[in-house]
Amino acid sequence: MTAAQNADFTEINKFTNLANEWWDKNGAFATLHDINPLRLNWIEQQTITRQNAGIANKKVLDVGCGGGILSHSMALRGATVTGIDLGEENIAAAKIHAEKTNQTIDFQCISVEELAKTHAGQFDVVTCMEMLEHVPNPQSIINACFELLKPNGVLVLSTINRNAKAYLFAIIGAEYVLKLLDKGTHDYNKFITPAELDRFAERSGFKRQDLIGLHYNPITKNYWLAQNVDVNYMMAVFKP
Ligand code: SAH
Repeated sequence: MTAAQNADFTEINKFTNLANEWWDKNGAFATLHDINPLRLNWIEQQTITRQNAGIANKKVLDVGCGGGILSHSMALRGATVTGIDLGEENIAAAKIHAEKTNQTIDFQCISVEELAKTHAGQFDVVTCMEMLEHVPNPQSIINACFELLKPNGVLVLSTINRNAKAYLFAIIGAEYVLKLLDKGTHDYNKFITPAELDRFAERSGFKRQDLIGLHYNPITKNYWLAQNVDVNYMMAVFKP
């Protein structure tokens, strides 16, 4: 498969069909709003660990940014943010929100592989959250992220592990019982184990920096980070 074809529009349309809900904190993307402070802080920490300073004044790329929930929060922390997504309606929603909130974020409808051809070595930090489990070829995405980073650059990824517990929590629990997500949002076969993600990252040339699990209590609606990575998790890797 060529890089230009590394997108599944059946997957992307699941998001563009809901594009008017990106900024509704109680809408289809409520969970992404809820977990955002946790992941934002983790991205800051990972950047500090590698670069001795957080994301303020850094060049940050948010791959598969959707309506820009994370991009927006990183810009508020002082980062110079580029957000890319292949869903036109997602980028449109992100641009409208940036305009309304007086933010300057470079939102573009372009693939990460395409951007890597013109912007190699330009970013301090790249984030790619909750996207890899929707693409045909995750390796190609991670290769492009490697190209786009400066040496000592940090890539932060998040996705869903693949095992019986992840099936139960991320699909049965989140889509059918709690209805946190629309039915069909996730395809179990596309979930990625931490070992697989390690292998993708290593093949691109990255070194592992950190790994953490993202947890949720549906009764208290609390979200927290913990070592257990059985279901949702984030991984930070760096470009040596
Ligand atoms: N990263 C955002 C949105 C996650 S939803 C957040 O965590 O808040 C997944 C997003 O990935 C959707 O907006 C979808 O359009 C996008 N996406 C899926 N495949 C893609 C691809 N190949 N290239 C770019 N974006 C993609």
